[in-house]
Amino acid sequence: MKDADNPNRDRVHGIGELEVVFWEIYATTACNLQCTYCYNEDLQHKNSEPQYTVDELVSFLKKYGKKGDHVSFIGGEPLIRTNLGKLLPGKFSPDILSKLKHILISIDGDEEQNDRFRGRGTFSKIIKQLEAIKPHFHGKIIARMTAAPDNDLEKSVKALAALPYFDTIYWQYQNMKNFDNYPAERKWKELQGLLAFWLENLKQGKFLHIQTFVSMVIRLLDQENNQKYHNVNYTLPENTLGCGAGDHYVQIFTTGDIYACPEIVEQKNNLMGDIRKGIYRSIGLKDFSNTEKCFRCEEFRICHCRCLHCTPEAYCTLIKRTIAVLRDALPLIKSLIDSGKLKREDFYISDQLEEIF
Ligand code: SF4
Ligand code: SF4
Ligand code: SF4
Repeated sequence: MKDADNPNRDRVHGIGELEVVFWEIYATTACNLQCTYCYNEDLQHKNSEPQYTVDELVSFLKKYGKKGDHVSFIGGEPLIRTNLGKLLPGKFSPDILSKLKHILISIDGDEEQNDRFRGRGTFSKIIKQLEAIKPHFHGKIIARMTAAPDNDLEKSVKALAALPYFDTIYWQYQNMKNFDNYPAERKWKELQGLLAFWLENLKQGKFLHIQTFVSMVIRLLDQENNQKYHNVNYTLPENTLGCGAGDHYVQIFTTGDIYACPEIVEQKNNLMGDIRKGIYRSIGLKDFSNTEKCFRCEEFRICHCRCLHCTPEAYCTLIKRTIAVLRDALPLIKSLIDSGKLKREDFYISDQLEEIF
């Protein structure tokens, strides 16, 4: 389908069909933390800042963007590079905070777990900043966790859910070079505990927006009703990665090069274009060799290859078992919706959220 408002969008795979595109702009690749699992260390362009002008960025976005699209600033740590002072969120003026729709906070659970991965003292600094922005920020605050093999998923997510700051919690499994000793059974026990906790809360009419579960349930409900995976604002095309990378989720790297996903920046074979020449090539789920098995997977419609690095067998096992528990819980969830204890809209994925299916 052509996009009558902006034909340039068709240059990106599937993008012409989408109402919303997320443009992720690398404000910097530098960061003030040194998380144990950070892949930025491997970047060729470490500590780099945008090598294009604001005018070039604006004219690119005018050419490919559309009203309603989202623009996010990412890093590294984007806030160490703003021209608004040496900022962390707590030092943002209320005026700037009022212009932001969502803030994504990288945090790995309780103080002990977070500081083990992200550095001593970082948990209390994050809490201090959250306290400072809370009175002035009225958008959504999203907790983003890296699910490392030795971070207890159940304990961490419960700790985040108990804090008064987050509208949504999600995790990404750690991208690792070697899965030989991955503790899949231990991780499954943690996930089972978390699933039981989430469902127990639902029974009591308490909806916790744990993104992984929510996005799977909405797809299960849609599958049952024979609808497209659907959301408030956009439809996920069939050949799209669950996170939307390359379709409605596009990275503008500091060099001005354009990629589908932050974990493949600088891989020239995955280049989609650049900010000056424009987008000249589409990249989709089928372009990655490690997603080939997804097309044969019985849970493809629900998982949609959650993330490029979710394809190792250990992760697929966790994903498939999680889907199985949620599928079994569908009658319960539907009865809670029918009785009015929960609303179907609770399960919609916010249009503020990206990269988190
Ligand atoms: S906050 Fe992100 S960019 Fe910074 S060190 Fe941690 S993982 Fe890397
Ligand atoms: S469970 Fe694994 S193989 Fe199946 S769609 Fe998801 S990532 Fe792909
Ligand atoms: S969730 Fe998507 S964009 Fe993020 S790392 Fe995975 S494939 Fe890349």
